[in-house]
Amino acid sequence: MWFCGLSGSGKTTISMALQQQLVQEGYEVVVFDGDVVRKGISKDLGFSPEDRTENIFRVAQACKNVSQRGVLAISATISPYESHRVMAGEMLGDTMKCIYLDASLQVCQDRDVKGLYAKAMAGEITNFTGVSDIFEPPQHPDLVLHTGQDSVEVCVRKLYQFLCRDVLGTTP
Ligand code: ADP
Repeated sequence: MWFCGLSGSGKTTISMALQQQLVQEGYEVVVFDGDVVRKGISKDLGFSPEDRTENIFRVAQACKNVSQRGVLAISATISPYESHRVMAGEMLGDTMKCIYLDASLQVCQDRDVKGLYAKAMAGEITNFTGVSDIFEPPQHPDLVLHTGQDSVEVCVRKLYQFLCRDVLGTTP
């Protein structure tokens, strides 16, 4: 499952909640969270277009490796560029589902969970998605979650129902 959405749109929150639910049901789930990846397998990378491409390539490769072993992989990275999501789709095939966490820039700025928008607005962080770098909404998402309006519980339930119906082939 390939999440995309602005910083603060809920990728960490939703992926963790879904993982917890699925693990309780006996599934193996690995989350590649953008913040964690950036401190680990991509710690040598910055936020230039080239480095962003390499970051997404590494995450897609990691998702491919674990999903080939029957583990459900969730990429919870901003993934702001359509071309990167297309690249991930080419690497992962039809099983990859693009989940758009659609919260407006205003909502994410108001939340400013990590204080990054304030820093970006003050010019202390460059190439910050939504402020000084673009976010391209996905053209063909498999599912849109309105994380700026719906509650966490509602979003996780919608995602779980989608997963059961369109991915796992089970009854929610
Ligand atoms: P991201 O990983 O995309 O940067 P986070 O999950 O770290 O975002 O932060 C999202 C914040 O928004 C959290 O504080 C979360 O509690 C809050 N929030 C409110 N409603 C939602 C929702 N429907 N889905 C996800 N997060 C939500």
